Amino acid sequence: MILSLSLLSSSGCRFTSPSPSSEPIIVFTFDDQHESVYQVAFPIMQEYGYRGTNFVNTAALGKPRLFGRDELIEMTLSYGWEAGGHTLNHEALNQLSYSEAIRVILEDYQNLQEMGLNPLSFALPKGQCPSGVYPYLQGLYPNIRGSSDFAMYCPINRQALGYLAFQTGWNQQVIKQRIVRGIAAGEALIIIGFHRFNAEDQSYTDSCSDTVFREILSFVKEKNLRVLPLAEAVNTLR
Ligand SMILES: [Zn+2]
Repeated sequence: MILSLSLLSSSGCRFTSPSPSSEPIIVFTFDDQHESVYQVAFPIMQEYGYRGTNFVNTAALGKPRLFGRDELIEMTLSYGWEAGGHTLNHEALNQLSYSEAIRVILEDYQNLQEMGLNPLSFALPKGQCPSGVYPYLQGLYPNIRGSSDFAMYCPINRQALGYLAFQTGWNQQVIKQRIVRGIAAGEALIIIGFHRFNAEDQSYTDSCSDTVFREILSFVKEKNLRVLPLAEAVNTLR
């Protein structure tokens, strides 16, 4: 009797979880088009052979200390990163009228499309979205990321994804421990989010040093975990 080994594979979501036998896919997201993402994080990700997901505000691209359209297009089309929506100018959706909220979501989406970037994922600015707007967002984007961290098991709810946002002052241990916990618990997907890198102004709460970033990537490499842009990761887990 011949057993198909593919049926026993630990990849994907064939087994209902939590299942300690499968290892989580790691996703690195980069929000708000900080120029340090392009200057610092992108080349380090390249060194490790990893691709990430940018969540961008398309009306803010190219403004001071932010990367521009050319950099976004280069990372996405030349290096296989994902470009996701994040509203036009990082608007807080719950402070807008319904029609304004729809406009800043749709025009941002259209800007990404016009750049040829095929947006499939959206990150809620500040993790907020009025319940009336959510169905519209769900119709536009197959993948939606909020802003709180929780364990994600198969089957993944791809339109209510969590993430852990790196905070200024953290060392690599915080992220390592989060990943170790996820492996032990049989989590399917762990999203780690970054904003700025090497910020000199310590009042920013979301900056990561290049040294710590490298240590995080080295740890993920040592553990031999898969790293994918968000849409690819979620598709793998279907
Ligand atoms: Zn943001």
